[in-house]
Amino acid sequence: MKKIYILIMIICFTLSFNITAGGQGSGADKDFGFIGLTVSTEYDGENVVIPVSELSRAMNMDFSYNDASGFLFAEKDGRSLHLKLLEEQHMLDERGLILYGYDLDKPYNSFNVKLLMSYTAKNSHDSAISPIPGHEETDGAVAITNASIVIKDGEGFISLQKTGTSLNLINKESLKDILSSNLILVNGEQALDSGYIPQRLTDVAPARARTAFRMKIDSQAMASLDEMLEAAYSAGIKGYLVTSAYRPFEKQNYLFNNKVELLSKSMDRSAALEAASRVVAIPGTSEHQTGLAVDICSESVSIVRAFGSTPQGKWLEDNSWKHGFVVRYHQDKTDITRIIYEPWHIRYVGMGHAEIMKEKNLCLEEYMQYLKENKIVSFNAEDGSRYMVQYLEKSSLEGTGLALDLPDDYGWSVSTADEDGYVLTICY
Ligand code: ZN
Repeated sequence: MKKIYILIMIICFTLSFNITAGGQGSGADKDFGFIGLTVSTEYDGENVVIPVSELSRAMNMDFSYNDASGFLFAEKDGRSLHLKLLEEQHMLDERGLILYGYDLDKPYNSFNVKLLMSYTAKNSHDSAISPIPGHEETDGAVAITNASIVIKDGEGFISLQKTGTSLNLINKESLKDILSSNLILVNGEQALDSGYIPQRLTDVAPARARTAFRMKIDSQAMASLDEMLEAAYSAGIKGYLVTSAYRPFEKQNYLFNNKVELLSKSMDRSAALEAASRVVAIPGTSEHQTGLAVDICSESVSIVRAFGSTPQGKWLEDNSWKHGFVVRYHQDKTDITRIIYEPWHIRYVGMGHAEIMKEKNLCLEEYMQYLKENKIVSFNAEDGSRYMVQYLEKSSLEGTGLALDLPDDYGWSVSTADEDGYVLTICY
């Protein structure tokens, strides 16, 4: 009687299972006529462990654990697969999947585990067999998957079922309607062209700061700036002055040429160009052209180095990340940014990203490099939200695109990043 019950349980768990990764074990699929994963499990005296080697064998991919981002990662024949556990009840580490709450007295134990699976194929489309059910047609997929795991006598049966309900296809066509620019990297090496004009400009009109003159800014950055200055005001930090925000290419051109002229009086032209570029960005290389950068100082201390030591400057340094801004040009990053310490220049990058950059002490150039190296990064924010940030190479969207299959309550966005790619942000 017990045996039949277990059998029915396992069938129920695995009926919708549709994995096509290949190399499945000889258990569930052969015995019951459906495809599933069968793995050997270990018991560590307290919990049950599905070793990395067993997951690798069952899915026919060679997984390794990435400690920095908490992922299992495998690459094979131009395909890559990231697996990330989205539960805190269980754990994924270098040993494998550790399932808590194993009861030795039960004839079998069942677990439900929520996973994020991110899959990318780099080769031709016909060789791409997606291990994520329903996404066989695309070059890549990011899906939330529910794994039902039944453990009995040291054997585990895993079935996967997508739980994503909002399916979006991100490809070259759809990208232009959804693309944000929050993470756009602009510096001496990566210039904007002279015709780049931000999409959503609005007036700079914060309730809690004065503005030096009329200027424009990205509308999302404006909303966050307002929120941030309100928070500063509540904390007793007042007297901010906004001196610059969106600056069109022509304006930057004018400022730069002026600086070169001025410096040319005391040095030769090439030295003047070099010196000018250290203090005024070469046209096209200024973040102000993105509409996401703001120069903000206090009524009593202008945009000078000393602003960093004022209460207003210190408050920005300590708190701007809570509102999606970063102090863009730090003293200890001048070798990378090639820009002097500018405690007044803040840049909107968006919630989550600002917090990661602050926590890890990364400037935007380093953050981009960090994302590229880790491919997917997960982050638990102080306010309780959780972020998954994935670097998408431009080439990965050139074929049939990326399927994004997430539950309705998961927020997501795609931003331009550097010349090689985009950044997908998932918030849940
Ligand atoms: Zn600035």
